[in-house]
Amino acid sequence: MDLKQYVTIVEDWPKPGIKFKDITTLMDNGEAYKYATDQIVTYAKEKQVDLVVGPEARGFIIGCPVAYSLGVGFAPVRKEGKLPRETVKVDYGLEYGKDILTIHKDAIKPGQRVLITDDLLATGGTIEATIKLVEELGGVVAGIAFLIELTYLDGRDKLDKYDVLTLMEY
Ligand code: 5GP
Repeated sequence: MDLKQYVTIVEDWPKPGIKFKDITTLMDNGEAYKYATDQIVTYAKEKQVDLVVGPEARGFIIGCPVAYSLGVGFAPVRKEGKLPRETVKVDYGLEYGKDILTIHKDAIKPGQRVLITDDLLATGGTIEATIKLVEELGGVVAGIAFLIELTYLDGRDKLDKYDVLTLMEY
């Protein structure tokens, strides 16, 4: 299936010069959403994943159906102040500014094999921060999966120690 036909390119959003890749039109289509999810599930099975971790909010959209299909748990990575119990946190720079990401301190058991998911790899800042959180808790990053990679931003350079799956490239 050609997944790109379901992605909508939105010119000059959220600011001039950005060509935003809108994945809501892919999610809207049951066949396309299932096909994309199944690709990532197959990859996660190969990597013998025990847990899926994804950053808010679009990392949940990709990661939760994958976790459900695998029968493993999902641990959310959220912006500071959103998780109710004790967290670990990390500062990160993203394409449009700076922020702090957090995860519950007990979300990952040491040695668990983790699949990290997000919708899109741009500069890699969000995923680099998510990796730091997983590793700080003793998780092993078994793989990282995205729907989309913006190859011209070279985010993959930050991930060269890891196994990365992307379903579409721009
Ligand atoms: P990075 O941290 O790799 O620079 O940026 C990736 C993060 O920004 C992802 O969490 C992603 O959801 C969001 N993002 C950046 N650009 C786009 C885009 O064009 N489309 C979508 N759907 N998300 C984007």
